[in-house]
Amino acid sequence: MRQDLKGLRALVTGGASGIGLATAQLLSECGADVAVVDLDPSGARPPLRGFVADVADDASVRAAVEAAALAMGGLDILVNNAGIGAAGTVEDNPDEQWRRVLDVNVLGVVRTARAALPHLRRSAHASVVNTCSIAATAGLPQRALYSASKGAVLSLTLAMAADHVREGIRVNCVNPGTVDTPWVGRLLEAAEDPAGERAALNARQPHGRLVTAQEVAAAVVYLASPAAASVTGTALAVDGGMAGLRLRPVAG
Ligand code: NAD
Repeated sequence: MRQDLKGLRALVTGGASGIGLATAQLLSECGADVAVVDLDPSGARPPLRGFVADVADDASVRAAVEAAALAMGGLDILVNNAGIGAAGTVEDNPDEQWRRVLDVNVLGVVRTARAALPHLRRSAHASVVNTCSIAATAGLPQRALYSASKGAVLSLTLAMAADHVREGIRVNCVNPGTVDTPWVGRLLEAAEDPAGERAALNARQPHGRLVTAQEVAAAVVYLASPAAASVTGTALAVDGGMAGLRLRPVAG
């Protein structure tokens, strides 16, 4: 079902690739005016409006959010999607990497939300959607730091939803399973056996395949849209059943 977002203004961080780009494109196809804020926004073509910022840098986030709001005449929808990965157990990542990943994945959401809130308060349809992860709700091997960052995003989503519900600002998140994006492509390329690794990732999801960026985008756009006006403080899993299902093995 296509949402009608005509007249709404959206900002998507990390919107030049993967889930963010699919989300920015779908928001635009639904009629929204869309700004993409990214380290390198060149992947977002018109009518998407590109703005350079590093979500780990407060001044650049404030400048990009102000420029985007000025260009579009306000802001109704914020999609906090920029994020980076990390592999390893709790023994593997140095403190500096912990600080970096938490800085981008958690404080990046804080910085963008802080800059956007004054604009969202002036909207009649204000909505924030954070890109969280299955890693926030299920224990995945070799993802200690990444999971900690997404667990924080899940809790932050709930806290922000409580803080801003009476201002008319809804806050939700999506929890994707493994999504076929350039990020996962890079991980597969680096694996010893890319085809075997892809097969293992496919098999980990009950529906037997990777999630598409477009499927996550559809969930984000629903949560962002006025159709979800009574939905706040929720985490919508888009994971082929990975978080909640316990299947019996296929009989051999
Ligand atoms: P991607 O690497 O394809 O795209 C990420 C985008 O974010 C890129 O355009 C990149 O330039 C931008 N970005 C990275 N760091 C940034 C920074 N500091 N400031 C501004 N922009 C920055 O990745 P993706 O797979 O589309 O992932 C997007 C989000 O989805 C991330 O938050 C990730 O944690 C989450 N996620 C991904 C998966 C998956 O399997 N791909 C699963 C669950 C959640």
